[in-house]
Amino acid sequence: MATLANSFSTTSDDTAVIVPGSPALTISYKQLSAEISSFQKKLAALGIRPQDAVSIAIPNSYAFIVAFLAASWQRAIAAPLNPAYKQSEFEFYIDDLSSAVALVPQGSFDKDGAAVRAARKYKAAIAECYWNGKEVVLDVREPGKLQGKGNATVEKAQPEDIALVLHTSGTTGRPKAVPLSHRNLTRTMKNVQQTYELTKDDRTLLVMPLFHVHGLLAAFLAPLGSGGSAIVPGAFSASSFWNDFTTHKATWYTAVPTIHQILLKNPPPNPKPEIRFIRSCSSPLSPKTFHELEKMYNAPVLEAYAMTEAAHQMTSNPLPHKGKRFPGSVGVGQGVEVKILDQDGKEVALGKEAEICIRGENVTKGYLNNEAANKSSFTAEGFFRTGDQGKQDKDGYVIITGRIKELINKGGEKIAPVELDNIIAHHPAVGEAVAFAIEDEMYGQEVGVAIVLKQGSQLGEQELKDWMKEKVAKFKLPKRVWFTDVMPKTATGKIQRRMVAEEMLKKDS
Ligand code: ATP
Ligand code: MG
Repeated sequence: MATLANSFSTTSDDTAVIVPGSPALTISYKQLSAEISSFQKKLAALGIRPQDAVSIAIPNSYAFIVAFLAASWQRAIAAPLNPAYKQSEFEFYIDDLSSAVALVPQGSFDKDGAAVRAARKYKAAIAECYWNGKEVVLDVREPGKLQGKGNATVEKAQPEDIALVLHTSGTTGRPKAVPLSHRNLTRTMKNVQQTYELTKDDRTLLVMPLFHVHGLLAAFLAPLGSGGSAIVPGAFSASSFWNDFTTHKATWYTAVPTIHQILLKNPPPNPKPEIRFIRSCSSPLSPKTFHELEKMYNAPVLEAYAMTEAAHQMTSNPLPHKGKRFPGSVGVGQGVEVKILDQDGKEVALGKEAEICIRGENVTKGYLNNEAANKSSFTAEGFFRTGDQGKQDKDGYVIITGRIKELINKGGEKIAPVELDNIIAHHPAVGEAVAFAIEDEMYGQEVGVAIVLKQGSQLGEQELKDWMKEKVAKFKLPKRVWFTDVMPKTATGKIQRRMVAEEMLKKDS
């Protein structure tokens, strides 16, 4: 049965989870399953019933893992939240799902943390959840709306039950709530496992947050489904990465390009650890970084393409013995059908740019409470419109060329901001560049660019424009250039063009 409870061994003595530390915590599959079962009973005793939402505002840890899996086994909806959110953000997410309970780290209740205050406002129960050296504790501090509703039955999840709700990052607008069923999640687990031929001998170092699909599916559930081990330190730290990696003999890791770039500046120790492959996903990996990484690791770098609505992975470059990898491309569909469709849902000619559309058992059935988005997001044939623009070559390799909603529409002339990012990044003085749309009286939209200069470098606006004139058509030249010390980014290191635009415009006022 396609459920999380059936997706990994409950009897094996092999190691499922390693939490680095002195001493490190090593948990077998058998121990993990017993722990989840026991935590599930605690959730039932608190009054958690099928499809109740359990908000989990705790950082990457063994407690998170157990709470997440126990909630899904109990047929509840696990709703992981970034523990660093401010109160208003917690309020939005807790209210959006009418959460029955908010799980928070030890000490949060007495500190009256942001998640605690938000949960109280919406009468969600508040419980601290942590590992005490013997078990994962569920310490109910305030029963909220579960008062008097305790002692629910211990349940058994079904494939169509919603196991997880995450919100999209909100890169192009307000975050949308994406329900993912056990079937969706277990399909991605299999797709990721098959793509990278994960086995019980693989050990993954988890550096991505578990409150997004990237960390949760690719770096945790897929390894678990393959019988391997997940090494779970806290949040990513460049200073402990290589120690954790070598001490626990990791064989691969997956991360966003920002993390790979940080690691380029913190190279592996000598002798270099043997790495089977590294995976990059969630943001574009420039060919330059791709080559630098392959050189540094002496291992294949496999870029993949994923989104929340697809329970993470859609495409990936293959392992070397399965095919070529192609820098600048996110590879081929992996257990997922990919088509490039025009606005009417018709397939475009090979190599032409249009919307990347996907179909597969991993894809959500539709957003929560968002009829309008659901109507426009699926074609008549059941393909999901990703909102990403791209093309495919004759071998099926997908190249993402931008986001449909991010295209800068300058009086009808469409300009892809990624193209400008990449060109400007080649200027010797530029460290990082992000292009975006700004409002314009004459054209409706114009090109704005935010630039972080390399340390010690200088560059003027006119100098940049003169340099760009040689490289792009005149209509693509930026109308405004802002120089900034830091580029605003999301918790997962993503560039949100909208956010960058807002921050730069704020500088003017
Ligand atoms: P929202 O849908 O709210 O605007 P979002 O799309 O950023 O936010 P996520 O689901 O976190 O939310 O991200 C999925 C998107 O990330 C994809 O649609 C795509 O635009 C981008 N993406 C993922 N992998 C890659 C990649 N390898 N290269 C370029 N872009 C990628
Ligand atoms: Mg999206």
